[in-house]
Amino acid sequence: MKQIVVSGIRSTGNLHLGNYYGALRNFIQMQNEYECYFFIADYHSLTTHPDPAMLHPNVKSILAEYLAAGLDPEKSAIYIQSDVPEVCELYTLLNMHAYVGELERTVSFKDKIRKQPENVNAGLLTYPVLMAADILQHKANLVPVGKDQLQHLEMTRKYARRFNTIYNTELFPEPDAYKFHGEPIKIPGLDGSGKMGKSEGNCIYLNDEDKVLTKKVMRAVTDQGPTEMNQTKPEVIENLFTLMRVVSAPDVVEHFNNLYNNCEIRYGDMKKQLAADILTVTAPIRERYNEIVKDEDYLRKVAAMGAEKARESSARTLEEVRKAMGFRRF
Ligand code: AMP
Repeated sequence: MKQIVVSGIRSTGNLHLGNYYGALRNFIQMQNEYECYFFIADYHSLTTHPDPAMLHPNVKSILAEYLAAGLDPEKSAIYIQSDVPEVCELYTLLNMHAYVGELERTVSFKDKIRKQPENVNAGLLTYPVLMAADILQHKANLVPVGKDQLQHLEMTRKYARRFNTIYNTELFPEPDAYKFHGEPIKIPGLDGSGKMGKSEGNCIYLNDEDKVLTKKVMRAVTDQGPTEMNQTKPEVIENLFTLMRVVSAPDVVEHFNNLYNNCEIRYGDMKKQLAADILTVTAPIRERYNEIVKDEDYLRKVAAMGAEKARESSARTLEEVRKAMGFRRF
């Protein structure tokens, strides 16, 4: 039997290079091998209270980006989370066995309390339970996740195990993290901070125009340049090389690495090359995006197809869950 894969990206804005290399590119590879469910997490985006006027446009642009980057609706179920309301019922049922103490201890929750102390809502606290419902509704075996999501996946495994034990069933498989090429990749920000991310405000977006993208790369933080041969690179410079290793050919990386080691590097040249290589990856996606996003009929069809596949799978699981918990129809 085919392994089942589930993953999603929150609809909090356009996709950036971190989303692409950390998630989307992997989805595209996986769709050829597994039974996949890829969704756009609009319920999850509500924890930060987005402007209602932006909710649908954000979902729409991510759907178009998924398709423009190469996700194929004939191969995978591509759906919008809120088109499958069954997930909310499973979320409610799983919540009964999710303990407040363990939810309060999650790293992401503690992080959010610090970042948005004015909005510590119950949705934030139970975020890992909704994520577990997203995954368990399709009985997923594999979840491609970034490093930041590993603790949540561990909780999903715990909830699956707990449910199976309490109701004496083997209903839920315990999903494994699917890591590509060993360690999960982390795309750095080019502003000298850690990772590229929407809340960090340092993103290079897949649909940035050429000029905007080039300007962002040319503004990347650097230093005065190396003063000793073969010296260790400071973090801001290592970040440039990390990104280059992802988007550029190995001989290009080696060329700039040699220049660095010989104290002959000119960061302006390196950034120009980096911008050109990022554009080689993103420009075709942006061109397709600009076409797809205008095609409302096509987007509607894809979303409906995905929702149908996902609802069928979710309803099947939910029926078994209800039965295990003792619900009966008159
Ligand atoms: P988010 O935008 O936080 O909903 O993230 C969606 C997906 O993109 C998750 O699988 C993240 O792990 C991945 N992701 C986000 N930012 C980065 C980054 N800077 N490097 C690698 N993966 C990332």
